[in-house]
Amino acid sequence: MDKLIKGLIADGHARVYLAYTTDLVEEARKHHDLWPTATAALGRTLSIATVMGGMLKGEDEKLTIQINGGGEIGTIMVDAFPNGKVRGFVSEPHVMLVNEKTHKLDVGKAVGTNGYLRVIRDISLKDDFTGTTALQTGEIGEDFAYYFTVSEQIPTAISVGVLVNDDMTTKSAGVFMIQMMPQATEADITYCENIILGLKPISTLVSEVADPKELLNEIFGDEIEILEEQDLKFECNCSKHRMLEALTTLKEEDLEEMIKEDHGCEIVCRYCNTKYHFNEDDLSKLLSEKRKKA
Ligand SMILES: [Zn+2]
Repeated sequence: MDKLIKGLIADGHARVYLAYTTDLVEEARKHHDLWPTATAALGRTLSIATVMGGMLKGEDEKLTIQINGGGEIGTIMVDAFPNGKVRGFVSEPHVMLVNEKTHKLDVGKAVGTNGYLRVIRDISLKDDFTGTTALQTGEIGEDFAYYFTVSEQIPTAISVGVLVNDDMTTKSAGVFMIQMMPQATEADITYCENIILGLKPISTLVSEVADPKELLNEIFGDEIEILEEQDLKFECNCSKHRMLEALTTLKEEDLEEMIKEDHGCEIVCRYCNTKYHFNEDDLSKLLSEKRKKA
Protein backbone atom coordinates (compact mmCIF):
# COMPACT_ATOMS: atom_id res chain seq x y z
CA MET A 1 0.00 0.00 0.00
CA ASP A 2 1.31 3.45 -0.93
CA LYS A 3 1.88 5.83 1.96
CA LEU A 4 2.60 9.46 2.78
CA ILE A 5 4.46 10.24 5.99
CA LYS A 6 4.80 13.73 7.42
CA GLY A 7 7.39 14.71 9.99
CA LEU A 8 9.38 17.55 11.55
CA ILE A 9 13.17 17.93 11.63
CA ALA A 10 15.67 20.60 12.76
CA ASP A 11 13.88 21.30 16.08
CA GLY A 12 10.60 21.71 14.20
CA HIS A 13 12.08 24.31 11.83
CA ALA A 14 11.54 22.20 8.73
CA ARG A 15 8.82 19.87 7.49
CA VAL A 16 9.56 16.55 5.83
CA TYR A 17 7.26 14.65 3.50
CA LEU A 18 8.00 11.17 2.21
CA ALA A 19 5.59 9.34 -0.09
CA TYR A 20 5.91 5.86 -1.58
CA THR A 21 3.80 5.92 -4.74
CA THR A 22 4.75 2.85 -6.81
CA ASP A 23 1.27 1.27 -6.77
CA LEU A 24 -0.64 4.43 -7.69
CA VAL A 25 1.76 5.24 -10.55
CA GLU A 26 1.36 1.66 -11.85
CA GLU A 27 -2.42 2.05 -11.57
CA ALA A 28 -2.25 5.26 -13.65
CA ARG A 29 -0.07 3.48 -16.21
CA LYS A 30 -2.62 0.68 -16.59
CA HIS A 31 -5.61 3.03 -16.88
CA HIS A 32 -3.96 5.18 -19.58
CA ASP A 33 -1.65 2.69 -21.32
CA LEU A 34 1.28 5.01 -20.59
CA TRP A 35 4.64 4.50 -22.25
CA PRO A 36 7.74 4.89 -20.05
CA THR A 37 8.49 8.60 -20.42
CA ALA A 38 4.79 9.44 -19.94
CA THR A 39 4.72 7.13 -16.88
CA ALA A 40 7.67 9.04 -15.44
CA ALA A 41 6.17 12.49 -16.15
CA LEU A 42 2.66 11.71 -14.88
CA GLY A 43 4.07 9.57 -12.06
CA ARG A 44 6.30 12.39 -10.78
CA THR A 45 3.36 14.82 -10.90
CA LEU A 46 1.01 12.36 -9.15
CA SER A 47 3.65 11.74 -6.47
CA ILE A 48 4.07 15.45 -5.68
CA ALA A 49 0.27 15.81 -5.81
CA THR A 50 -0.08 13.28 -2.96
CA VAL A 51 2.08 15.54 -0.78
CA MET A 52 0.15 18.67 -1.77
CA GLY A 53 -3.15 16.84 -1.19
CA GLY A 54 -1.82 16.01 2.26
CA MET A 55 -1.40 19.75 2.91
CA LEU A 56 -5.12 20.40 2.33
CA LYS A 57 -7.20 20.81 5.46
CA GLY A 58 -10.96 20.62 4.79
CA GLU A 59 -12.59 17.40 3.62
CA ASP A 60 -14.20 19.00 0.57
CA GLU A 61 -11.05 20.75 -0.61
CA LYS A 62 -9.40 19.82 -3.90
CA LEU A 63 -6.12 20.60 -5.56
CA THR A 64 -5.56 20.66 -9.32
CA ILE A 65 -2.20 20.73 -11.05
CA GLN A 66 -1.83 21.69 -14.72
CA ILE A 67 1.48 21.50 -16.53
CA ASN A 68 2.09 22.35 -20.17
CA GLY A 69 5.56 22.97 -21.53
CA GLY A 70 4.85 22.63 -25.25
CA GLY A 71 6.49 19.18 -25.43
CA GLU A 72 5.28 15.94 -26.99
CA ILE A 73 3.34 14.91 -23.88
CA GLY A 74 0.99 17.90 -24.11
CA THR A 75 -0.85 18.78 -20.92
CA ILE A 76 -0.46 16.97 -17.60
CA MET A 77 -3.57 17.28 -15.41
CA VAL A 78 -3.71 15.92 -11.87
CA ASP A 79 -6.26 16.25 -9.06
CA ALA A 80 -5.45 15.54 -5.42
CA PHE A 81 -7.87 15.16 -2.53
CA PRO A 82 -7.26 15.39 1.23
CA ASN A 83 -8.13 11.69 1.72
CA GLY A 84 -4.96 10.57 -0.09
CA LYS A 85 -6.64 9.91 -3.44
CA VAL A 86 -5.20 11.25 -6.70
CA ARG A 87 -6.16 10.98 -10.35
CA GLY A 88 -4.67 12.36 -13.54
CA PHE A 89 -3.83 12.05 -17.22
CA VAL A 90 -1.54 13.32 -19.96
CA SER A 91 -2.78 14.39 -23.42
CA GLU A 92 -0.38 12.01 -25.20
CA PRO A 93 0.23 8.79 -23.24
CA HIS A 94 2.41 7.09 -25.87
CA VAL A 95 5.65 8.97 -25.31
CA MET A 96 9.02 7.22 -25.13
CA LEU A 97 12.00 9.58 -25.16
CA VAL A 98 15.42 8.60 -23.87
CA ASN A 99 18.29 11.02 -23.36
CA GLU A 100 21.11 9.91 -25.67
CA LYS A 101 23.88 10.81 -23.22
CA THR A 102 22.46 9.64 -19.89
CA HIS A 103 20.29 6.81 -21.31
CA LYS A 104 17.61 7.92 -18.85
CA LEU A 105 13.99 8.71 -19.66
CA ASP A 106 13.97 12.29 -20.94
CA VAL A 107 11.06 13.78 -19.00
CA GLY A 108 12.35 17.33 -19.47
CA LYS A 109 12.21 17.03 -23.27
CA ALA A 110 8.85 15.22 -23.27
CA VAL A 111 7.25 17.93 -21.09
CA GLY A 112 9.14 20.88 -22.57
CA THR A 113 10.11 24.17 -20.96
CA ASN A 114 8.06 26.58 -23.03
CA GLY A 115 5.14 26.87 -20.66
CA TYR A 116 3.80 26.87 -17.14
CA LEU A 117 3.03 24.98 -13.97
CA ARG A 118 -0.29 25.95 -12.42
CA VAL A 119 -1.73 25.00 -9.05
CA ILE A 120 -5.41 25.62 -8.30
CA ARG A 121 -6.56 25.09 -4.73
CA ASP A 122 -10.30 24.74 -4.57
CA ILE A 123 -10.93 25.65 -0.96
CA SER A 124 -14.36 27.20 -1.11
CA LEU A 125 -16.22 29.25 -3.68
CA LYS A 126 -15.00 32.50 -2.15
CA ASP A 127 -11.46 31.59 -1.41
CA ASP A 128 -9.83 29.81 -4.35
CA PHE A 129 -6.10 30.10 -4.81
CA THR A 130 -4.22 29.93 -8.08
CA GLY A 131 -0.44 30.09 -8.45
CA THR A 132 1.40 29.94 -11.76
CA THR A 133 5.12 29.79 -12.46
CA ALA A 134 7.16 29.29 -15.63
CA LEU A 135 8.58 25.81 -16.17
CA GLN A 136 12.32 25.67 -15.42
CA THR A 137 13.49 22.30 -16.75
CA GLY A 138 10.31 20.29 -17.44
CA GLU A 139 11.74 17.62 -15.12
CA ILE A 140 8.82 18.24 -12.69
CA GLY A 141 10.76 18.08 -9.39
CA GLU A 142 12.77 21.24 -10.04
CA ASP A 143 9.70 22.94 -11.44
CA PHE A 144 7.76 22.34 -8.22
CA ALA A 145 10.71 23.42 -6.03
CA TYR A 146 10.73 26.68 -8.01
CA TYR A 147 6.93 26.96 -7.72
CA PHE A 148 6.95 26.59 -3.91
CA THR A 149 9.85 28.99 -3.47
CA VAL A 150 8.55 31.71 -5.81
CA SER A 151 4.77 31.42 -5.71
CA GLU A 152 4.24 30.33 -2.09
CA GLN A 153 7.49 31.77 -0.64
CA ILE A 154 8.38 28.46 1.01
CA PRO A 155 11.98 27.37 0.33
CA THR A 156 11.57 23.75 -0.77
CA ALA A 157 13.83 20.91 -1.86
CA ILE A 158 12.27 18.01 -3.77
CA SER A 159 13.55 14.64 -4.88
CA VAL A 160 10.96 12.85 -7.00
CA GLY A 161 11.36 9.91 -9.33
CA VAL A 162 9.89 6.93 -11.12
CA LEU A 163 11.78 3.82 -12.26
CA VAL A 164 10.25 1.77 -15.09
CA ASN A 165 10.91 -1.94 -15.72
CA ASP A 166 11.84 -3.34 -19.14
CA ASP A 167 8.27 -4.61 -19.58
CA MET A 168 7.04 -0.99 -19.05
CA THR A 169 5.53 -1.70 -15.60
CA THR A 170 6.43 0.62 -12.72
CA LYS A 171 9.40 -0.56 -10.68
CA SER A 172 9.38 2.11 -7.99
CA ALA A 173 8.14 5.66 -7.44
CA GLY A 174 8.31 8.16 -4.65
CA VAL A 175 8.90 11.71 -3.49
CA PHE A 176 10.95 13.20 -0.69
CA MET A 177 10.37 16.86 0.17
CA ILE A 178 11.80 19.25 2.77
CA GLN A 179 10.20 22.65 3.39
CA MET A 180 11.83 25.30 5.57
CA MET A 181 9.64 27.10 8.10
CA PRO A 182 10.02 30.88 8.58
CA GLN A 183 11.95 30.43 11.87
CA ALA A 184 14.63 28.23 10.23
CA THR A 185 18.20 29.34 10.94
CA GLU A 186 21.27 29.19 8.67
CA ALA A 187 22.34 26.07 10.57
CA ASP A 188 18.96 24.41 9.91
CA ILE A 189 19.25 25.20 6.20
CA THR A 190 22.79 23.78 6.01
CA TYR A 191 21.65 20.63 7.87
CA CYS A 192 18.80 20.08 5.37
CA GLU A 193 20.98 20.82 2.35
CA ASN A 194 23.52 18.22 3.49
CA ILE A 195 20.78 15.63 3.97
CA ILE A 196 19.50 16.19 0.43
CA LEU A 197 23.00 16.16 -1.08
CA GLY A 198 23.80 12.85 0.62
CA LEU A 199 20.74 11.01 -0.69
CA LYS A 200 20.51 8.60 -3.61
CA PRO A 201 17.65 9.28 -6.06
CA ILE A 202 14.35 8.68 -4.25
CA SER A 203 13.16 6.07 -6.79
CA THR A 204 16.31 4.03 -5.99
CA LEU A 205 15.73 4.38 -2.24
CA VAL A 206 12.10 3.26 -2.62
CA SER A 207 13.26 0.15 -4.51
CA GLU A 208 15.89 -0.60 -1.82
CA VAL A 209 13.97 0.08 1.42
CA ALA A 210 10.50 -1.45 1.53
CA ASP A 211 9.11 0.55 4.46
CA PRO A 212 8.97 4.37 4.28
CA LYS A 213 9.33 4.71 8.07
CA GLU A 214 12.48 2.63 7.97
CA LEU A 215 13.85 4.90 5.25
CA LEU A 216 13.15 8.00 7.36
CA ASN A 217 14.90 6.28 10.25
CA GLU A 218 17.93 5.56 8.03
CA ILE A 219 18.09 9.18 6.86
CA PHE A 220 17.40 11.04 10.12
CA GLY A 221 17.89 8.59 13.01
CA ASP A 222 16.36 10.17 16.14
CA GLU A 223 16.33 13.62 14.54
CA ILE A 224 12.80 13.29 13.13
CA GLU A 225 9.44 13.60 14.81
CA ILE A 226 6.81 11.66 12.82
CA LEU A 227 3.53 13.59 12.76
CA GLU A 228 1.14 11.45 10.75
CA GLU A 229 0.82 8.94 7.95
CA GLN A 230 -1.81 8.47 5.28
CA ASP A 231 -2.69 5.75 2.76
CA LEU A 232 -2.49 6.82 -0.90
CA LYS A 233 -4.39 5.60 -3.94
CA PHE A 234 -5.05 6.34 -7.61
CA GLU A 235 -8.82 6.60 -7.73
CA CYS A 236 -11.25 8.62 -9.83
CA ASN A 237 -14.56 9.91 -8.47
CA CYS A 238 -16.38 9.80 -11.81
CA SER A 239 -19.69 7.91 -12.10
CA LYS A 240 -22.51 7.35 -14.59
CA HIS A 241 -24.62 9.78 -12.58
CA ARG A 242 -21.96 12.54 -12.82
CA MET A 243 -21.56 11.97 -16.55
CA LEU A 244 -25.32 12.20 -16.99
CA GLU A 245 -25.28 15.54 -15.17
CA ALA A 246 -22.66 16.75 -17.64
CA LEU A 247 -24.94 15.71 -20.52
CA THR A 248 -27.83 17.82 -19.18
CA THR A 249 -25.82 20.93 -20.04
CA LEU A 250 -26.04 20.08 -23.77
CA LYS A 251 -28.54 21.85 -26.01
CA GLU A 252 -31.85 20.07 -26.74
CA GLU A 253 -31.10 19.81 -30.46
CA ASP A 254 -27.74 18.16 -29.76
CA LEU A 255 -29.44 15.58 -27.54
CA GLU A 256 -32.09 14.98 -30.23
CA GLU A 257 -29.37 14.39 -32.80
CA MET A 258 -27.61 11.89 -30.50
CA ILE A 259 -30.89 10.00 -30.06
CA LYS A 260 -31.98 9.98 -33.73
CA GLU A 261 -28.70 9.67 -35.56
CA ASP A 262 -26.26 8.04 -33.15
CA HIS A 263 -28.82 6.03 -31.09
CA GLY A 264 -26.91 6.83 -27.92
CA CYS A 265 -23.54 8.20 -26.90
CA GLU A 266 -20.37 7.22 -25.16
CA ILE A 267 -18.44 9.46 -22.78
CA VAL A 268 -14.90 8.69 -21.71
CA CYS A 269 -13.58 10.05 -18.41
CA ARG A 270 -10.25 11.70 -19.21
CA TYR A 271 -8.90 11.13 -15.70
CA CYS A 272 -9.30 7.34 -15.60
CA ASN A 273 -10.31 6.31 -19.16
CA THR A 274 -13.56 4.67 -17.97
CA LYS A 275 -16.15 4.54 -20.76
CA TYR A 276 -19.79 5.34 -19.98
CA HIS A 277 -22.46 4.36 -22.49
CA PHE A 278 -25.88 5.99 -22.69
CA ASN A 279 -28.53 4.40 -24.92
CA GLU A 280 -31.52 6.01 -26.65
CA ASP A 281 -33.74 5.44 -23.59
CA ASP A 282 -31.24 7.13 -21.23
CA LEU A 283 -31.02 10.13 -23.52
CA SER A 284 -34.79 10.36 -24.19
CA LYS A 285 -35.46 10.36 -20.44
CA LEU A 286 -32.84 13.07 -19.96
CA LEU A 287 -34.36 15.15 -22.77
CA SER A 288 -37.91 14.95 -21.40
CA GLU A 289 -36.72 15.93 -17.90
CA LYS A 290 -34.83 18.84 -19.39
CA ARG A 291 -38.00 19.97 -21.23
CA LYS A 292 -40.05 19.73 -18.06
CA LYS A 293 -37.64 22.01 -16.22
CA ALA A 294 -37.46 24.52 -19.07
ZN1 LIG B 1 -12.92 8.82 -14.04
